Amino acid sequence: MQSSLIGKIEKAKRYAQETERITFSEFSVKFRGEHDIYTTALKDGKWQCTCSFFSSWKICSHTMAMEKVLGNMLPKEALSNPYLTSMP
Ligand SMILES: [Zn+2]
Repeated sequence: MQSSLIGKIEKAKRYAQETERITFSEFSVKFRGEHDIYTTALKDGKWQCTCSFFSSWKICSHTMAMEKVLGNMLPKEALSNPYLTSMP
Protein backbone atom coordinates (compact mmCIF):
# COMPACT_ATOMS: atom_id res chain seq x y z
CA MET A 1 0.00 0.00 0.00
CA GLN A 2 1.14 3.53 -0.68
CA SER A 3 2.80 5.08 2.35
CA SER A 4 0.72 8.25 2.02
CA LEU A 5 -2.48 6.20 2.37
CA ILE A 6 -1.09 4.36 5.40
CA GLY A 7 -0.52 7.74 7.01
CA LYS A 8 -4.15 8.69 6.36
CA ILE A 9 -5.39 5.44 7.86
CA GLU A 10 -3.34 6.05 11.00
CA LYS A 11 -4.73 9.56 11.24
CA ALA A 12 -8.28 8.27 10.74
CA LYS A 13 -7.85 5.83 13.63
CA ARG A 14 -6.75 8.68 15.89
CA TYR A 15 -9.52 10.99 14.69
CA ALA A 16 -12.11 8.29 15.35
CA GLN A 17 -11.12 8.38 19.03
CA GLU A 18 -11.27 12.18 19.14
CA THR A 19 -15.00 12.59 18.62
CA GLU A 20 -14.90 16.21 19.84
CA ARG A 21 -13.50 17.00 16.37
CA ILE A 22 -16.84 16.02 14.84
CA THR A 23 -20.06 18.04 15.02
CA PHE A 24 -23.16 16.90 13.20
CA SER A 25 -24.89 19.79 11.46
CA GLU A 26 -27.78 17.66 10.26
CA PHE A 27 -28.81 14.06 9.88
CA SER A 28 -31.85 11.87 9.67
CA VAL A 29 -32.32 8.36 11.02
CA LYS A 30 -34.99 5.69 11.03
CA PHE A 31 -35.70 4.91 14.66
CA ARG A 32 -37.41 1.64 15.55
CA GLY A 33 -39.48 2.45 18.61
CA GLU A 34 -41.54 -0.08 20.53
CA HIS A 35 -44.69 0.56 18.48
CA ASP A 36 -43.58 2.00 15.19
CA ILE A 37 -40.67 3.24 13.12
CA TYR A 38 -40.10 6.98 13.36
CA THR A 39 -37.94 9.40 11.48
CA THR A 40 -35.79 11.36 13.89
CA ALA A 41 -33.76 14.20 12.46
CA LEU A 42 -31.59 17.16 13.30
CA LYS A 43 -31.85 20.15 11.00
CA ASP A 44 -30.52 23.67 11.59
CA GLY A 45 -29.72 22.66 15.17
CA LYS A 46 -33.34 21.68 15.84
CA TRP A 47 -34.78 18.24 16.46
CA GLN A 48 -37.58 16.74 14.44
CA CYS A 49 -39.37 13.47 15.09
CA THR A 50 -42.47 11.93 13.57
CA CYS A 51 -43.76 10.41 16.83
CA SER A 52 -46.86 11.89 18.48
CA PHE A 53 -45.12 12.72 21.75
CA PHE A 54 -42.67 14.96 19.95
CA SER A 55 -45.41 16.97 18.24
CA SER A 56 -46.59 18.32 21.60
CA TRP A 57 -43.36 18.29 23.65
CA LYS A 58 -40.68 19.08 21.01
CA ILE A 59 -38.60 16.41 22.68
CA CYS A 60 -39.09 12.64 22.92
CA SER A 61 -37.38 9.40 23.82
CA HIS A 62 -35.98 9.18 20.28
CA THR A 63 -34.33 12.61 20.25
CA MET A 64 -33.03 12.01 23.77
CA ALA A 65 -31.64 8.62 22.76
CA MET A 66 -29.84 10.27 19.83
CA GLU A 67 -28.41 12.86 22.22
CA LYS A 68 -27.08 10.04 24.33
CA VAL A 69 -25.63 8.17 21.35
CA LEU A 70 -23.97 11.16 19.68
CA GLY A 71 -23.10 13.11 22.84
CA ASN A 72 -20.41 15.71 22.19
CA MET A 73 -20.79 15.34 18.42
CA LEU A 74 -24.01 17.35 18.55
CA PRO A 75 -24.09 21.14 18.32
CA LYS A 76 -24.78 22.82 21.68
CA GLU A 77 -28.25 23.97 20.64
CA ALA A 78 -29.29 20.35 20.10
CA LEU A 79 -28.44 19.32 23.66
CA SER A 80 -31.65 19.57 25.66
CA ASN A 81 -30.46 17.86 28.76
CA PRO A 82 -26.88 17.91 30.05
CA TYR A 83 -27.59 14.80 32.18
CA LEU A 84 -28.03 12.71 29.05
CA THR A 85 -24.59 13.28 27.64
CA SER A 86 -22.78 13.09 30.98
CA MET A 87 -24.38 9.78 31.97
CA PRO A 88 -22.00 6.86 31.64
ZN1 LIG B 1 -39.89 10.64 18.79
